[in-house]
Amino acid sequence: MSQLLIKENESLSRHTSFRIGGPARYYIEITNPEQLTEAMKFIAEKKMPWLALGGGSNMLVSDHGYEGIVLHIVPKGLKLTKVDENKAELKVSAGEIWDQVVAFSVLHNLWGIENLSHIPGMAGGFPVQNVGAYGQEASQVISEVYAYEVATDRQVVLSKDDCQFGYRQSIFNTSQKGKFIITGFVLELAIKPQPNLAYKDLAEYFIDKKPSLLEIRQAVIAIRDKKLPHPKDIGSAGSFFKNLELTATEYNNLASNVKEKLGEEKFISLEKIKRENPNGYKVPTAFVIDSLLNLKGLQIGGAKIYDHQALVITNYTGQAKATDVLEIFKKVRTKAKQLLAVEIVPEPNLIGFSQAELDYFF
Ligand SMILES: Cc1cc2nc3c(=O)[nH]c(=O)nc-3n(C[C@H](O)[C@H](O)[C@H](O)COP(=O)(O)OP(=O)(O)OC[C@H]3O[C@@H](n4cnc5c(N)ncnc54)[C@H](O)[C@@H]3O)c2cc1C
Repeated sequence: MSQLLIKENESLSRHTSFRIGGPARYYIEITNPEQLTEAMKFIAEKKMPWLALGGGSNMLVSDHGYEGIVLHIVPKGLKLTKVDENKAELKVSAGEIWDQVVAFSVLHNLWGIENLSHIPGMAGGFPVQNVGAYGQEASQVISEVYAYEVATDRQVVLSKDDCQFGYRQSIFNTSQKGKFIITGFVLELAIKPQPNLAYKDLAEYFIDKKPSLLEIRQAVIAIRDKKLPHPKDIGSAGSFFKNLELTATEYNNLASNVKEKLGEEKFISLEKIKRENPNGYKVPTAFVIDSLLNLKGLQIGGAKIYDHQALVITNYTGQAKATDVLEIFKKVRTKAKQLLAVEIVPEPNLIGFSQAELDYFF
């Protein structure tokens, strides 16, 4: 136990990008995967729940904190191996800052994660959430994941298929949640240029121009800076609401509700904005909040829906409570259900809330 530095009652607002939340009962920094065995012994001794924490950029922690043990996973390491003339492998440790991983790959002329520039957080969160933006996502580049398996106290290697990636999900935040701690992964990156400019914002940025890898990274950063709050300036967890993924029947219900209750013009906008996906249609929840529910800019207590991007709830005053954020979520969710019969779900992980609180807000 001697190697572990264990803090008590460590405020989690200091470790999350929302800058909201009470203390964790115990807080342990894991700088080396071998410390996980010791940490698990401590957890067993205390008989408390635990969770892995990276950069805390996809979490909302309750105002009364987390009555459990937080393992802050920070082992460092980046190693590049050229596989052949087409691809290279980049081995990434979980505690690397994600955007520095992107900067490193761009510096070495490797393609595949440049559109994921400027996403906050640590590398360990990348496979968990199957992080994605501007047409690229973790599942397209991860070839294997290194993890500590809690049940067997062993380091294991999981293939991409084992991870069962889906929209902002993997086995690590669904069926196998709490069973693995990610210690690193391998990215397979392209050596030959493979620009992915399919997203409107990027396509418009480069009309009549074939951009370099660095120019794409710079463009993504510029576009994101206009739309999203920078964690240094204003607290948030990025998108608080997941986009709607609807079957064809669900989409048709939504479309007829919009036509009937909000009129032909809104219906036409919906038809234009929907995108086909393998199971039906994707509808941006920002459009639903902004154009259909008219809730962009909604403020409750210290929390507010971001003026430039309705998917984001911010800690607007810097003093917002977790309950302010969830009151906004509840208002959006309830109105969407009542008016449009669609189910809006949160993207960030909700930490330390009691069942009674969750029942109230959902
Ligand atoms: C301004 C802003 C913009 C954002 N933009 C995007 C975006 O464009 N696309 C996108 O997908 N996300 C976005 N996000 C969300 C977030 O940045 C990503 O999900 C990020 O990958 C989370 O990493 P993290 O280290 O902060 O994870 P954390 O918030 O610390 O953890 C997230 C989840 O992963 C688990 N976890 C973390 N590390 C480990 C580990 N080593 N092993 C096992 N489980 C672990 C945690 O327990 C938790 O369940 C944004 C957030 C902000 C604040």
